[in-house]
Amino acid sequence: MEDLVRKNLSEIKPYVPGRPIDEIRREYNLKKVIKLASNENPLPPPPSVRRAISKAVMEANRYPDGDCYYLKSAVSDKLGVKNFNLIFGNGSDEIIDIIIKAFMNDGEEVVTSDTTFLEYEIVSRINSRRVVLVPLKGLKYDLEAMLKAINARTKLVFIANPNNPTGTYVDRRETEDFLARVPDNVIVIFDEAYSEFIDADDFPRSMSYLDKNVILLRTFSKAYALAGLRLGFAVAGAEFIKAMEKVRQPFNVNSLAQAAAIAAINDERFLAKTKSIVSRGKKYLYKALDKTGIEYVRSEANFILVDLKRDCAGVFEEMLRYGLIVRDMKQYGLSTYIRVTIGTEEENRKFVGILNKVMRAKENQHDNRLKAGRY
Ligand code: PMP
Repeated sequence: MEDLVRKNLSEIKPYVPGRPIDEIRREYNLKKVIKLASNENPLPPPPSVRRAISKAVMEANRYPDGDCYYLKSAVSDKLGVKNFNLIFGNGSDEIIDIIIKAFMNDGEEVVTSDTTFLEYEIVSRINSRRVVLVPLKGLKYDLEAMLKAINARTKLVFIANPNNPTGTYVDRRETEDFLARVPDNVIVIFDEAYSEFIDADDFPRSMSYLDKNVILLRTFSKAYALAGLRLGFAVAGAEFIKAMEKVRQPFNVNSLAQAAAIAAINDERFLAKTKSIVSRGKKYLYKALDKTGIEYVRSEANFILVDLKRDCAGVFEEMLRYGLIVRDMKQYGLSTYIRVTIGTEEENRKFVGILNKVMRAKENQHDNRLKAGRY
């Protein structure tokens, strides 16, 4: 049987998502579990979105609008682009797949970073495309090194900005310098999944790059609290969108997601509330980590990368016992780090309490081993 499976499939390491709440509840026999592992919005969708979903469910017997006409109009209004600049997908995950299918010829390659959202590499490999991974520099995308890595075979460059899992960003000057020097036959994809959380004044004004070989990725999974409904989109020039439309499945975005997203993008109060929770939570967590002397990376997104200076797997496991799910960064090659999503005030407080408890226990364990001469 095994020899019937596609030959290069064994080279593909599947994406490992954050552990689901129910799974941890069952496994550890816990009543309450907090998940700060997948950069989701800690708030449930607001009433406006819930009403839109209830209404749309009455037409769930019909196929959805494959063109997402009303959603396109709502998003283009907000972003100041035209309907023909947009394409929607079942999460921005699907858009990554659509981009690779629409633009890459045999023998062409993808360039991205070695410590970034893993889907760029995984989806490229699933599509039998070669990927060149450029190391980060100081936990930031190294655009100079990426320019050097681009060669005649390069077709796509993926840049997550801000980057997941580091929370760092490339600024306007660096980005514009990069775009001026990148060859004309290369398409640069800026994945801005966390764009709504950005505070930095020098963040690139990416909407002004649409006349270049640039594609922007956005999502409703984070600030708009719709991760469970799966909806992401690309913004690009009309010719790029037309190419992507050719490889899109006809009904890739379901009708409940479309209705929910229209309501979500028009609910400015909810977005403001989310941003304020993230911004206050970030300040609180920075302060709490400073107090304990635990190092972290300052973030422009809704998560923080924390350096525990010890193997993160043990700490991650111990936290699960307390009913707290964070993200163990081993998969990303950062074996002493965890990534924590900013939650509600109460969740952040619990995270700090559990982190301190677990770290103290680990230190005591270490001291006891030293005393017993067990190293
Ligand atoms: N891009 C980045 C940088 C992300 O961190 C994520 C979510 N983890 C995604 C894309 C995927 O988002 P979606 O839910 O829209 O597929």
